[in-house]
Amino acid sequence: MENDLIATVDVFLQGHPTIKYIPRSSPDFATARKVWNCSRLDQPLVIVQPQSAEDVVTLIKFVKSNGIPFSIRSGGHNLEGRALVQDALLIDLRALDSVTVADDLKSATVGGGILQDELINQLWARGVATPTGTIPHVGYFGWASYGGYGPFSSKWGLGVDQITSATVVDPNGNLVKLEGNDPLLKGIRGAGGVFGVIVDLTIKVYPAPTILAGPIVFDSSDITTTFTQVNTAYSNLLDTETLPSQLSLQRISFHSPHGLAFAFLFAWLGIDTEENLGEGQRWSQRIASLGPAKMNMVKPTTIPEWISGAGVHVPKAVYGSASTCSLSHITPEVADAIGSNLVHLPANAGAMLTIHHLRGPSAEPQKPGRDSMFGLRQPHFMLEFLGYSVEPEKQDESESWANKFAADVEKAASSSGSLLPISYISLYPSTRSSSSAEWVKKVYGDSAALLYELKASFDPENLFKHTVPSLE
Ligand SMILES: Cc1cc2nc3c(=O)[nH]c(=O)nc-3n(C[C@H](O)[C@H](O)[C@H](O)COP(=O)(O)OP(=O)(O)OC[C@H]3O[C@@H](n4cnc5c(N)ncnc54)[C@H](O)[C@@H]3O)c2cc1C
Repeated sequence: MENDLIATVDVFLQGHPTIKYIPRSSPDFATARKVWNCSRLDQPLVIVQPQSAEDVVTLIKFVKSNGIPFSIRSGGHNLEGRALVQDALLIDLRALDSVTVADDLKSATVGGGILQDELINQLWARGVATPTGTIPHVGYFGWASYGGYGPFSSKWGLGVDQITSATVVDPNGNLVKLEGNDPLLKGIRGAGGVFGVIVDLTIKVYPAPTILAGPIVFDSSDITTTFTQVNTAYSNLLDTETLPSQLSLQRISFHSPHGLAFAFLFAWLGIDTEENLGEGQRWSQRIASLGPAKMNMVKPTTIPEWISGAGVHVPKAVYGSASTCSLSHITPEVADAIGSNLVHLPANAGAMLTIHHLRGPSAEPQKPGRDSMFGLRQPHFMLEFLGYSVEPEKQDESESWANKFAADVEKAASSSGSLLPISYISLYPSTRSSSSAEWVKKVYGDSAALLYELKASFDPENLFKHTVPSLE
């Protein structure tokens, strides 16, 4: 059966030479198959690399008419490596990496396989910028279309909030443009590729600002005390003041070459005047004063420079798994649970805690014209428990640490009333729910019903079944 399918693909691709074909026997297969999480062992049937939207159309018509299972990959950074599906044809979109900036410099149309750093650099060359996450090698579509936490969201909004239109190859192999109030566009803003292959997105862009950015590193010799002390001071700050929209702060803890580190990643958007620069510098000093700061490395920089620096600390290939939860507050009980688990952070590159703080426009209830399926429009903290290791033999150690960490935090948050019912789709493990319906409810909350409705009208046969999310 498998050989028959491969023979069918073989014959088809001989007639379509623009589509690159990488069978299992090819010396390029291992490299083309690579995703960030190497624990994913699934072997695709073959890998195909369309070079254009028309190639994608041809491929979808072909897989549909031949009943060939398939999956989609862009940056390959799904936390579980879910782009790889055993014996399914893998459509690798990486060649679709074009960026066209509109003449008015307010939007850009970008190809479905582009990575974050490619997008950032190409926009920057045209004098514009858009929100992305901080890790350069993550796929932009996977980041933006499922939510997209990152610096600058308190000013510009989440990744989903940037999407103004999309071109999708639907289950019949038609190229469909989604714009305006089309409910499917709302679906794509949060449910990504569940309805079809997104070959391009038009997104908002903004005049490229210079920024103040860098880590503020705290003394971690007693990381439990430092974390709780900094958390109390930060909570007091949030209780007494509204943080400026230019400011973004992400807490992070991992083993650096100098030992266990706990830091705020600080970013301040826009230092075009002396006044803005001075204000940003004052805020970096205020954040450093929240605890025993050891180094304040915040400096004037550019978005491309800063993002490429941030990527250095995150390995390009890992083994393990992750978990997440979202909290309304980091209460003293939760801070204790975090602090006491950070002491045991394994010295494995890839093991890490990060805390995103969603506030400002991204955290406000939906507004007309900005509808999305993103589940949690209220101010919150999204915690990432990253149980990874670059060495496969240390995977268990990292995973055990992250699993216990997540369980302790959820318990403390639950008893102090700060645990929120929705978790971020990109980090929430598929193994945490007993059915896909339960999982979908956990990540979409009240929007889950609409998601099933949209799926039933656009892809009633569930051709796109090996997707994130899975609606089987
Ligand atoms: C190191 C690292 C750092 C991260 N940092 C952040 C962060 O700061 N903020 C944040 O919000 N998230 C972050 N994430 C999560 C990340 O945004 C998601 O895992 C994202 O989905 C990865 O996108 P990708 O294209 O690289 O993934 P892939 O594995 O290539 O794709 C995942 C799935 O998305 C769908 N898909 C992707 N592109 C398309 C398309 N063009 N058309 C149709 N379907 C498509 C497919 O179903 C595919 O299987 C991070 C992940 C990692 C590994």
